[in-house]
Amino acid sequence: MDFALTGEQEFFRQNVVRLVDDLVVPRAREIDQKDEFPRDLWEKVAGLGYLGLRYPESVGGMDADNLTCALFYEEITRGSVGFAQSVIMNMLMGTDLVWRFGGPELRERCFLPAIRGGKIATICFTEEQSGSDLGGTQTRARREDGRWILNGKKTWITNGPLADFACVLARTGPEKGLAGLSFFLVEKGTPGFSAGQNIPKMGCRGTVTGELVLDNVSVPAENLLGGEGSALVALEGLLDQIRIMTGAMACGVAEAAFRDAVRYARERVAFGGPIGKNQLIRAKAADMAARLSAARLMVHKAAWLKDNGRDARTGAALAKVTAVEACLFIVDETTRIMGAYGFAEEYDAVRFFRDARFLLYGGGTHEILRNFAGRNILGT
Ligand SMILES: Cc1cc2nc3c(=O)[nH]c(=O)nc-3n(C[C@H](O)[C@H](O)[C@H](O)COP(=O)(O)OP(=O)(O)OC[C@H]3O[C@@H](n4cnc5c(N)ncnc54)[C@H](O)[C@@H]3O)c2cc1C
Repeated sequence: MDFALTGEQEFFRQNVVRLVDDLVVPRAREIDQKDEFPRDLWEKVAGLGYLGLRYPESVGGMDADNLTCALFYEEITRGSVGFAQSVIMNMLMGTDLVWRFGGPELRERCFLPAIRGGKIATICFTEEQSGSDLGGTQTRARREDGRWILNGKKTWITNGPLADFACVLARTGPEKGLAGLSFFLVEKGTPGFSAGQNIPKMGCRGTVTGELVLDNVSVPAENLLGGEGSALVALEGLLDQIRIMTGAMACGVAEAAFRDAVRYARERVAFGGPIGKNQLIRAKAADMAARLSAARLMVHKAAWLKDNGRDARTGAALAKVTAVEACLFIVDETTRIMGAYGFAEEYDAVRFFRDARFLLYGGGTHEILRNFAGRNILGT
């Protein structure tokens, strides 16, 4: 067993570390405070080719494996969760279905510009009445004169109001639950397709999250991604990667908070010495280090399973749960170690504390994922 990254992976990681330290970390507070999408930063990251990380070199990507992608997700999130969320949406969920199921024209018009930074992508499952339970999807698509007409409303959509195109989950068949669901590509500017309200958020600021409304939106037949009723199958190809990604993001927030906690514990003096000399503070540092290390190992193992064609379903679900719970623990302990300063907006600890909460939902809530993993383990 070898825990070391390959030379290529380590070289890649170092480049991303430099990018994040030089460009993202210095902007993180501003992104959080202004709560605006930093388009200039986006263009820089896109210009370096990272939006195409997981796609083949033949289309301008870097052909990276899941482990290399996890390294990127962790580092970019260490810089700014809000910015990372917009970037990763484009790299993974927003473009995956167009890449896998889009015809040559859609790939040319939407996919390629999106991985070069010229277009912003998103994916839309969630509705007011259905989040975890996608079987409750009420957005409908019906055939009419060789086209598809979509009606419904999506909410909580990352990049939603900014997106140039969206992969929209809609019901095409009379079947109940997850059967009869399909994905459609809908482009900005299509009559009837509009942005609804933006959602002000506790954390993960700087990425715009909001509603998208479909009012008799007509799209051509080729915008059906992956065939009628195929949404579940399409999603199955993506879910493990979303969970590995969310776990990696959690490691990024946790790492940023942990570094602040260590620095503070070394520098803050109380009762005549650094607070880090107290056993209880040392124990916190040890517990934080242990949980972060375990989280990262599980995320990397799940990525390795995926890269080696093994069944990663349970591993990816548990990696996500473990990494996010570790992250929540670490951001909380950081605010405790920092005393009142862990409660001050002036310090990053508050931002990490707020941002970490966001990771609870993407890729499945922990109730859903533990139920899923437990079912796989028990075979029940
Ligand atoms: C910042 C942000 C960005 C997002 N971006 C996107 C996006 O781009 N596209 C998109 O489609 N969605 C997006 N989402 C939505 C996200 O995917 C949903 O929040 C998530 O799927 C959970 O759905 P819900 O919030 O409706 O919760 P619900 O599904 O209503 O769940 C509420 C609670 O009930 C629990 N619960 C539900 N069912 C069960 C069960 N069977 N057993 C036990 N407990 C259960 C849940 O675990 C949770 O605790 C985003 C959310 C956030 C916060």
